[in-house]
Amino acid sequence: MTKFKQEDVWIFNPERECMTIEERRKLQLKRLKKVVKYAYENVEFYRNLYDEAGVKPEDIQTLEDIQKLPFITKDDLRKTYPFDMQAAPKDDWIEVHSTSGTTGIPTVAAYTRKDIDIWGECVARGLASLGVHKNDIVNVAYGFGLFTGGHGAQYGAQKIGALAVPMSSGNTQKQMNFLKDFPADFLCCTPSYALYLAESFEKAGIDPKSIPLKGGLYGAEMWTEEIRQKLEKKFDISAQNIYGLTEVIGPGVSTECHIKDGMHIAEDHFYPEIINPETLEVLPDGEHGEIVFTSLTKTGMPVIRYRTKDLTSLNHEKCECGRTTVRMSRITGRSDDMLKVKGVIVFPKQVEEVIMSMDELSPAYLIKVSRPGLMDVIEVFVEIDQANFSDSMTDLETLKQIIAHKLKDAIGIAVKVTLAEPYSLPRSEGKAVRVIDERNFD
Ligand code: ZN
Repeated sequence: MTKFKQEDVWIFNPERECMTIEERRKLQLKRLKKVVKYAYENVEFYRNLYDEAGVKPEDIQTLEDIQKLPFITKDDLRKTYPFDMQAAPKDDWIEVHSTSGTTGIPTVAAYTRKDIDIWGECVARGLASLGVHKNDIVNVAYGFGLFTGGHGAQYGAQKIGALAVPMSSGNTQKQMNFLKDFPADFLCCTPSYALYLAESFEKAGIDPKSIPLKGGLYGAEMWTEEIRQKLEKKFDISAQNIYGLTEVIGPGVSTECHIKDGMHIAEDHFYPEIINPETLEVLPDGEHGEIVFTSLTKTGMPVIRYRTKDLTSLNHEKCECGRTTVRMSRITGRSDDMLKVKGVIVFPKQVEEVIMSMDELSPAYLIKVSRPGLMDVIEVFVEIDQANFSDSMTDLETLKQIIAHKLKDAIGIAVKVTLAEPYSLPRSEGKAVRVIDERNFD
């Protein structure tokens, strides 16, 4: 059986990924000056924004000068829907992607040939650090279409010369067959879907460990260390994190190496800053806040100081893997997705950590917040994992109480726990929907 081997990992572009900090800063400054000028000259939005702020492209003389430029947000991208943020001439666009638009007008980004090449390389860097080589098969079970997930993983695999299988999401029985029959060496999809696949194998009486998979890059949704451990244990693989967003380029903005201590940002292409989301002040290294990206090389839709709303921190220490690129920690939340329940800030991640730490529970869960009277009620639906539930340990009522205690410890308020039938909670084939907020705030 072939499984993950550390000696298989490699560095895709050592010249860029391992350059000294000074060399990289020089390269970043050169590219920053170029992209600010390029955006100013080709995008009316940036021209107006910088004119109003009284700043000119020539004012960028050091990397720190980036702080003279105003931030941009998703709202700015919505206001310029569909193509007013594009800098490259329409003739040069070869592909378009879009966010789902579930919370409003979608964000649309057109890519030039150069953008697609950069994107493929960024994902290839992550796949190399997972041990993907030319002779490997990579199953891509992220969604295809306007969503960036599937295409990004495919371009990355192909950049290495590996065989990409564009499975897309859904049709789980076929996924299971292809994983076994091809057989796939690597699987890239959302972590929740990978867990669902593991569960589906178990349900079919097949030990997921018996599948020849060695690892995968998992992302496109927030996940925890506990999910990683579950995935790695169930499949006996290396599960590494990949981060990105359509506005910046898609997946591959940062990817985790096998050391698994933060995701290496492709810093030669994306310049990161961490800010305090309330005061907008730039925070020093190591402090936790909202990550802001500037695309240094993208030509289709460059973004300059784009506020992602994703909360994380940066670490410039040299990584054991040999890469010198800065690492960002796992996303711990979004500055706009925290729930306020009974006046207390709750992140869905806190609930997830409790659920995932209990072997008696399956990884599926749902958080429902409602306000039946004057008070908020938070209810967490969980499923028993039949394989791991031994009735000698406890009865169901006691288990419910244990979960409720653990949740209260984690989030600080009382939680109603409801045990759902095995396999009854919704599984996601794309991004998992795990919070239902039924409160009416009008
Ligand atoms: Zn590393």
